[in-house]
Amino acid sequence: MKTYQVNSEGYYGEFGGAYVPEALSRCVEELRQSYLQVLEDEGFKKEFHRLLRDYVGRPSPLYPAKRLSEKYGCKIYLKREDLNHTGAHKINNAIGQVLLAKRMGKSRIIAETGAGQHGVATATVCALMNMECTVYMGKTDVERQRVNVERMKMLGATVVPVTTGSMTLKEAVDEAILDWCSHPTDTYYVIGSTVGPHPYPDMVARLQSVISEEIRKQLNEQEGRDYPDYLIACVGGGSNAAGTIYHYIDDERVGIVLAEAGGKGVESGLSAATMNLGSVGVIHGSKTLVMQNEDGEIEEPYSLSAGLDYPGVGPMHANLAYQRRAQVFAINDDEAVAAAFELTRLEGIIPALESAHALGVLPKMEFKSTDVVVLTVSGRGDKDIETFLSYK
Ligand SMILES: *Cc1c(COP(=O)(O)O)cnc(C)c1O
Repeated sequence: MKTYQVNSEGYYGEFGGAYVPEALSRCVEELRQSYLQVLEDEGFKKEFHRLLRDYVGRPSPLYPAKRLSEKYGCKIYLKREDLNHTGAHKINNAIGQVLLAKRMGKSRIIAETGAGQHGVATATVCALMNMECTVYMGKTDVERQRVNVERMKMLGATVVPVTTGSMTLKEAVDEAILDWCSHPTDTYYVIGSTVGPHPYPDMVARLQSVISEEIRKQLNEQEGRDYPDYLIACVGGGSNAAGTIYHYIDDERVGIVLAEAGGKGVESGLSAATMNLGSVGVIHGSKTLVMQNEDGEIEEPYSLSAGLDYPGVGPMHANLAYQRRAQVFAINDDEAVAAAFELTRLEGIIPALESAHALGVLPKMEFKSTDVVVLTVSGRGDKDIETFLSYK
């Protein structure tokens, strides 16, 4: 049977794999040999799901958005990841990976962060589980995301500003990898999205798949059938989208719609629309679609949304786009901001700027009145209020 899931070598079609330097291949291999065994262990599952319930507040509601549905002439449900502890879906993955690290006998956690959301989720779980935590962050990002830096510090993490290159996410990743190479025995590297070398994309997708597991059950209760006609999610690296589609990926009755960041416009040179603009290359240990010039140099991405501002995309999503299993829209800054205001005024829900890109797809679709649409609101907009109000 044709599948869009990962194969045993870590590939989604031609995308994925593990392209890592010699010094890292032992660490990645140790992880590859452990992750499935641990994730499928009954004791692990029990602890993971207990924390998702009692600490994160799952299941997150599947909310029938009546006024939004009326506006778009179909039945729209919102999967409310914004209601999770720490305000987004990233905590699901952080809990899973830190539990895995403990079971692998690791005592020290490292992570990288761009906007700081993944850093905060990781620092939160490390406080909860009494693990040492170091977060690498580009100096530019440290300066523009001051509140998240203070949150991580309050949670007990060490934040290391990285001062090489453009001083943003890419350099933070390089620094985290260097750290991992030099402390292979006691250190576990928590990656925050479905990116990086195999097994990270598959592992993160599995840990986030609680989202689609819940959608199936909740749709069955509310709609009397366990699948929607469309699933819509935004894509930075791809983890909330991977979690949303996980159990439906091979079910062709379900349309998959992905929203990436168009920035100032796909043709403007200021964009992070990797699935529209990218070509095959290697980034952060994975063969995927990358925004690069003819010499293979990575092009600086741009989006108003810090969480979508990444020059690559997960190999799962690259394959879904390449094989046309998914419909991909580039949503520009102004479309996302308008969609955020629309949801706020129609439903009283202020979405994260990232999630607003998923909402920005709605006016571009042509729905039938009987269509059931599930759209994932990946996070809450509290962090973005200033950006929304000052956007012109
Ligand atoms: C980090 C983030 C994203 C983008 O990451 P994915 O891995 O693509 O999900 C989207 N929404 C929110 C709220 C985020 O914090």
